Amino acid sequence: MEYQFDRHYIGGNWVAPHSNAVLDVENPFLVEACGSAPFGDEHDVDLAVRAASTAFESWQHSSIAQRQQVLRMMHEVLVANVEELAQLWALEVGTPITTARQATSFLPVKVLEDLITILDEFSFSSTLGTTRVDRVAVGPVAAITPWNYPISQLLIKCASAIAAGCTVVAKPSEIAPLCAFRLVQLFDKQGLPPGLINLVGGDGPKVGDAMVKHPGIRFVSFTGSTNTGRSIAAAAGERLVRTCLELGGKSASIVLDEQILGTAIAGTVGSCSRNTGQTCTALTRLVVPANLLDMACELAVSHFANLVIGDPRDESTVIGPLVSAKQRERALEIIESGERQGAEKIFSAKVPTTGHFVSPTVFRNVEPTMRIARDEIFAPVLSILSAPESELVDLANDSDYGLAASVWGTDTAQALSVADQIDAGTITVNGGAFNPAAPYGGLKQSGLGRELGRFGLEEFLEYKTFHGGVR
Ligand code: NAD
Repeated sequence: MEYQFDRHYIGGNWVAPHSNAVLDVENPFLVEACGSAPFGDEHDVDLAVRAASTAFESWQHSSIAQRQQVLRMMHEVLVANVEELAQLWALEVGTPITTARQATSFLPVKVLEDLITILDEFSFSSTLGTTRVDRVAVGPVAAITPWNYPISQLLIKCASAIAAGCTVVAKPSEIAPLCAFRLVQLFDKQGLPPGLINLVGGDGPKVGDAMVKHPGIRFVSFTGSTNTGRSIAAAAGERLVRTCLELGGKSASIVLDEQILGTAIAGTVGSCSRNTGQTCTALTRLVVPANLLDMACELAVSHFANLVIGDPRDESTVIGPLVSAKQRERALEIIESGERQGAEKIFSAKVPTTGHFVSPTVFRNVEPTMRIARDEIFAPVLSILSAPESELVDLANDSDYGLAASVWGTDTAQALSVADQIDAGTITVNGGAFNPAAPYGGLKQSGLGRELGRFGLEEFLEYKTFHGGVR
């Protein structure tokens, strides 16, 4: 095993966990250990928060040039190590290598480039008559991330916080912590100033919870499940600490007419199967007019049948294993509930018997009350729902979540008008390109606050008003 980490990264030093505990990380394809990471407790969190607080004393006053210098170093490190990091991601999560490589080389790299430019233009101070309004760093922040996109999630939080003048205590998912430890190790080798990023390994109930409740933490940036987000918001609320919560989704893909059906189904299946269905914005509910249902089902099945299933290291693989046996069991249980509740399973593929594979699955005759229409399954499972044209918007909005949606229509004006009526934070019209400078986040049970670009930077800032403060 090449990736053995037995120390947290605190104040620029590699520090043994208080309990000396180490956690084995499993390769979900081979179902064997592929590395290890330290397993911390509240003592380790306390050390890390103290280091972040000490660094914050000076970093909050750092110049734009100093912040840009750190972001440039992070950018160089990332670009130089895309292949190694993508391979490590495929190893510990089971993400198909082409997805891991694309997601490592695009979003996090672009985020760093954008932040460097934004800092040139961003106004940290403005005037209103004789009043000065400053935007100041909120303080040391907790960054808690899930396992599905382990590089971008950690990087977006750390880079935005550093650009704002904050320092970070980060905790990756205990299920796939290796990418985070390797990335921070690479930053450390290139001279990351001590205390800017502190990385503690461990689980949610012990380490994550201790981070959220630590009095030195002034803001919590969290990506993960809605249930965890809810308990983090409650704990942060006790201390009146703000949170940014990027949570789950059950996103709808709404098709308006026959002419665009082919493009729409290709785009929907691509999204639903990305990272083996383990993507928060995955389009997992296909919503079509009743008269197009048969055609939509046929097209969806033919696209699903073409998905290459297998070894995540293989360049042609689109569907790998799920990340863990637990995720697999949960997904299988929800798929079974679909059949029990009367949906028709119209596609199920044969999958390898070793590794945590779940068969890519398509359901039709799905009712909005069924679990397969309501729960985030986090596996490549598409639920096809239909309604008369006039009821498509209501059907799409019949969800507890509001993270993302796609609208497809040959008449762009009509598609935009439908998009206006969809309750989601991020809506894609006719496959429009993802813009990483735009705010990203969800409505309803999909979260609070926004990440990315200027909007993500602003989450880490507070206003300070000085009446009579114009110099
Ligand atoms: P999770 O909620 O189980 O865990 C996420 C992180 O929270 C982990 O680091 C975990 O250790 C920590 N945690 C757990 N309990 C905690 C507690 N009580 N206090 C503090 N920290 C705690 O989520 P997961 O299974 O790792 O990730 C999958 C979920 O993440 C899915 O629901 C997915 O939709 C969501 N997600 C959302 C986005 C988004 O941008 N909206 C992006 C990716 C993933």
